Amino acid sequence: MSASRILAAWWRTRRALSASAEALAHGRARRWAALQPALARTPALAAYAGGALERFPVTDIADLRSDYGAWNSLGLSDPDLRALADSAEAGGAAAADGLSAGWSTGSSGAARGLFVTTPAERAEYIGQSLARLLPARALLRRQRIALNLSAGNALYSDVNRGRITFRHIPLAAPLDETDAALEAFAPTILIAPPHRLLALAGAGVRPSALRHLFCGSEPISATERAFIADRLGLSPRAIYQATEGFLGAECAAGRLHLNDHVLEIELEPVPGTPGFRPIITDLMRTSQPIVRLRGDDYLEPDPHACPCGFAGRVIRPVEGRVGDLWLGAAGTVTPPQIVAAVEGVLGATHRWQAVGERAHAMLRVAPECPLPMAEAAARALAACAARPVTVSADLPPWSGPKRRKVVWADG
Ligand SMILES: [Zn+2]
Repeated sequence: MSASRILAAWWRTRRALSASAEALAHGRARRWAALQPALARTPALAAYAGGALERFPVTDIADLRSDYGAWNSLGLSDPDLRALADSAEAGGAAAADGLSAGWSTGSSGAARGLFVTTPAERAEYIGQSLARLLPARALLRRQRIALNLSAGNALYSDVNRGRITFRHIPLAAPLDETDAALEAFAPTILIAPPHRLLALAGAGVRPSALRHLFCGSEPISATERAFIADRLGLSPRAIYQATEGFLGAECAAGRLHLNDHVLEIELEPVPGTPGFRPIITDLMRTSQPIVRLRGDDYLEPDPHACPCGFAGRVIRPVEGRVGDLWLGAAGTVTPPQIVAAVEGVLGATHRWQAVGERAHAMLRVAPECPLPMAEAAARALAACAARPVTVSADLPPWSGPKRRKVVWADG
């Protein structure tokens, strides 16, 4: 991968972080025009190429995932791509031209997403990430970046040069092994899902050289963030990333900005709520174009301006999926409302999952959670969700790659 491409993406992103909203919109229009030749080579989009964005159809993720052959500009068939991703997962070599494919970790039960990237796209991604996540002065020092994630991430794995070293520590490894690996590597930067950061914080593990802490791949609540910051001495900043792209990140002021410099994110209102779901167009991805893809996350805009200077729109932390909104006679209850009700009582240290149905709900807690506390949390949840809530103290440790605290189980 070319270091000059990473640097170019880094520089472009740094400039975007201080550009006006108008300048970002102008940049998006320019990138949209430049994207059209790749769309013309993509079977699902070719008929629309050259037209305005709003003329393109909105596509659900399941439709994209049913035929990856229709959704790439490289002339690869669906079986070709699946074979390439399977081979990469089994430790096979990347394709000769540096093309890399892989499977994302989905929520448990959901189909996994396939992604395919070229070396230029990976360089772009890394340059953008470094510019978005770290202050410029951090790149003058040696940085050891530990990725405590579920799969070796091809987006990063080929960057071990100069001052930056990446180390993947599998999420499946037990906590004591993870602790030993962190001690040996002494990361300055750690990226992990919130449930792992909570476990490390609870066990008193704090890598001594750590300077920057990031979380991703599942929602984190305000209560959990405060607990981690208290124990680890660093507040984790959220990276909002999906198989469909790098959608946003928290700035140094702790606010979550959409990546409005490289994505066209339309917000589709979710009926009965103050929130939206994103319709995502990635203006940089050409090998596997993402155009008007309807995401499943439930987003709420944050009306307060951010002092950091980045004009990318600010949203509240993402705490759940549109598919996990609770419907009922008294109205729709959103994941942020449910999280606030339960964690207002349980705090960050007790594992829980709330499973809603139309006429009642169940609050599952870990066996070690004190029963009176669980019952108080259930009362708070019942008041918030306007339906009776029963308690079940049988919640096992999180087994899937992604934790789901709020679940809708009613057809
Ligand atoms: Zn900001």
